[in-house]
Order: sequence, then C-alpha cells, then structure tokens
Amino acid sequence: MVEEVRWRECVGYVNSNMENAVGSLYVREAFPGDSKSMVRELIDKVRTVFVETLDELGWMDEESRKKAQEKAMSIREQIGHPDYILEETDRRLDEEYSNLNFSEDLYFENSLQNLKVGAQRSLRKLREKVDPNLWIMGAAVVNAFYSPNRNQIVFPAGILQPPFFSKEQPQALNFGGIGMVIGHEITHGFDDNGRNFDKNGNMMDWWSNFSTQHFREQSECMIYQYNNYSWDLADKQNVNGFNTLGENIADNGGVRQAYKAYLKWMAEGGKDQQLPGLDLTHEQLFFISYAQVWCGSYRPEFAIQSIKTDVHSPLKYRVLGSLQNLAAFADTFHCAQGTPMHPKERCRVW
Ligand SMILES: [Zn+2]
Repeated sequence: MVEEVRWRECVGYVNSNMENAVGSLYVREAFPGDSKSMVRELIDKVRTVFVETLDELGWMDEESRKKAQEKAMSIREQIGHPDYILEETDRRLDEEYSNLNFSEDLYFENSLQNLKVGAQRSLRKLREKVDPNLWIMGAAVVNAFYSPNRNQIVFPAGILQPPFFSKEQPQALNFGGIGMVIGHEITHGFDDNGRNFDKNGNMMDWWSNFSTQHFREQSECMIYQYNNYSWDLADKQNVNGFNTLGENIADNGGVRQAYKAYLKWMAEGGKDQQLPGLDLTHEQLFFISYAQVWCGSYRPEFAIQSIKTDVHSPLKYRVLGSLQNLAAFADTFHCAQGTPMHPKERCRVW
C-alpha cells in the first residue's frame, strides 16, 4: 500500500469526514458562481448530441431507441455544490457537526467520534424517505459521477476547474475537458451496468431482444480491442477488456459526443479563441485537451495493482483506445490508413 505524504493524508481525511465544511470553504475560495450556468448549458448541448446520435445507430431498433431517448432526457444533474453550504442563515451546515466535539490534542479520540457520528448518520437514513436532492459527495472533489439508481449525474466544484473547465480558456479545451466528462457520465447510464436501470433508476429491462443482442456484439468488439493492450509499466500484462468495459464504453461515447457538440457550437456561430504560439486548429486543440486531462504517471507497483483492480483502463489506453475508434481524430491529424490511429476496423457502441 502506497503511503501518501502527510499533508495529503490529513487533507484527504478531513475532506472525506467533513465534506460539506471543507466544501463550503473550497467553494468560497475557488468556485465562481457563474460557472454553474455555463456548465448547465454544456450539459444540455452534450445531452442533445447524445439523443441525436441515437438515430445513427443501426444496431438499435426504434422501440429501444425511444426508451433510450427518454432515459437520457430524464437524467437529473447536480453542479458544483449544494446551495445551503453557502447560506449564512441556513442552519443545516452547523447541525451536521453539532454532535462533534473535537479536541486539538486528541487525534485518536477525534477519529472515534467521526466513526460514531458517521454510523449514526447512516443508520438514521434507514427510517427516512429517500431524498432525491441529497448530494452523494463533497464539493471539493476532482471527480464526476453517474448514479444508476438515481439516474443522476454529478459534477462537484472540484472538477469544474482548469484543465477541465474555465470560462477564460478556449471552448476547444472546455469541450475536450469537462464536455467529454459530461458525455462520459451520461453514457454510463447506457453502459453494460447502467443499461439495466430505467429512467427512474429502477432495475428494469427496457430493452428489446434485438437491441440487447446487438449491444452485446458491439461490446464484444471493445472487449477484444482493450484486451490486446499490453501495458509496459505493469510488466507487459494485458488490460482486462471485460472488467473495464463500462468505463471504455463511457470514454468512447463521451469523447465522440463532446466533439460533435463542439463542432455544432462552432457551426451555430460560436467563435473560439486561439492559443498564442500554437499552430493548431480548433479541432486539434480539442483532442489535445482531451488527452491532457488524462495525463498522469504510475509507479510500476501501482500499475501492477491497478491493472488487476481498476475498472478504468490505464490512462494512456483511455486516450488511445477511444481515439482509435473515432474517425474524426485520424482526419484531424491526417493519420494514414492502416496506422494505429486509423485502423481498418473500429468499435462503436454509442
Ligand atoms: Zn466512469
């Protein structure tokens, strides 16, 4: 197990135990209020593209297509943070911590209090009605989520920051960053797990036999594709295409939808900025932004662990796998046919 540096360990501990207190401080410091409406517009654009793209899919029949459209239109969204963590007059934030009585010099006892109060909070929920507006994670988190049984997507303030998103940066970067993440989360509602839930989040089979069978065939292609990636950092072990299928489906759908949404935004008169000093087209910049947000490094020990346990493909195959399947990438960068990024056969689910 890799031990984190001490400050990171402590910040992580406090953030996970007191997510709304930390979230409140974080949002005041780092989340501009008008980001919320900009992100809401991006969600609408990507969702519209998802729905329009369903018409291109020959493997789906009309009945299932209509159900998929309804489900996509029913996805609810949460952006940034719950409002009450910023409202001085709202007592809820104080009440969340009213049973805690920390002492500066009692670390172990403080941890026990956190465990106890956390358990009480969970147990209380047993007798309460489900609150559809409850936030399932804190605001100061750099991640995004799809919840199948709420049919809900969540984008905490932590991910609504550069390089994923900024109102100051070119829209090519925003669509390639947070736009792709939005598409990724929407597509989770239709991956090998999410597809088993209906528009209300109930586990229910809304698929025709025809569409189910073809969904499986389209998925097989992706399983085979990712199975063939041998990862140098993990002793050349191969990716498990089955365990990573849901994430790969989401990555592939996400980047395709975000790219289309970006082209559509420009076609409708959107004027994008250039980045000074870079001789790149807007389209190329979109793909560079996409690749950049997945930039990262692994220690070999961690690579060996994560190839067995992580439901995501290794970062470089998240980029290469999804872009091999997208003809627009090969067009934009003029990759010759038969080269790795312009293969003869491509996989596509959504
Ligand atoms: Zn995902």
